[in-house]
Amino acid sequence: MSGYAPPVQRLVTELSKLPGIGTRTAQRLAFHILRASEEDAFGLADAVREVKERIGLCEVCYNLTDASRCLICQDTRRDHGLICVVEEPGDVIPMERTHEYSGVYHVLGGALSPIDGIDPEDLKIAELYARVQSQTQPVREIVLATNPTTTGEATALHIAHELRARAPELTVTRLASGLPVGSDLEYADEVTLGKAFAGRRAL
Ligand SMILES: [Zn+2]
Repeated sequence: MSGYAPPVQRLVTELSKLPGIGTRTAQRLAFHILRASEEDAFGLADAVREVKERIGLCEVCYNLTDASRCLICQDTRRDHGLICVVEEPGDVIPMERTHEYSGVYHVLGGALSPIDGIDPEDLKIAELYARVQSQTQPVREIVLATNPTTTGEATALHIAHELRARAPELTVTRLASGLPVGSDLEYADEVTLGKAFAGRRAL
């Protein structure tokens, strides 16, 4: 028993579900919220509710959006024949920061990991093949920008293999090395990521 009033205990329990937040940190955050002004505390609660109510996935690329299509997919100045495949919505932002990329994206929603039970059907992989094979928006090149981790590499190889069978004329490339092995795209600085993008190689 923690000895906290049930509402406080509930807040601590919910906060400790966040990644990287242990019980002690959750308690500290809960006390911070209790001390905060009503404006700040309700602002946090409303922001959480609003993202869950208003944010969904883009019907084309599966990036986060508050409309049926995200701003990148809506942008006619971008090259819709070039698709950069990433694991998570958070990977689009560092890619955009490089200013090296003018194509569009495809967000898989994770990486293949048979040990964790994540198979191709659990990711937006079939949706990628459908995009490539659709006649409305001809695709020239797919850049596989999954993370340089074991699961990210396995995902890139799987998709490259399938794309070769389905669309032999399509160019399939992978980001060049230079990215720290075993790390997430999200943490790469824009110079490193920009170089990796410029030096992408065929798969
Ligand atoms: Zn989109």
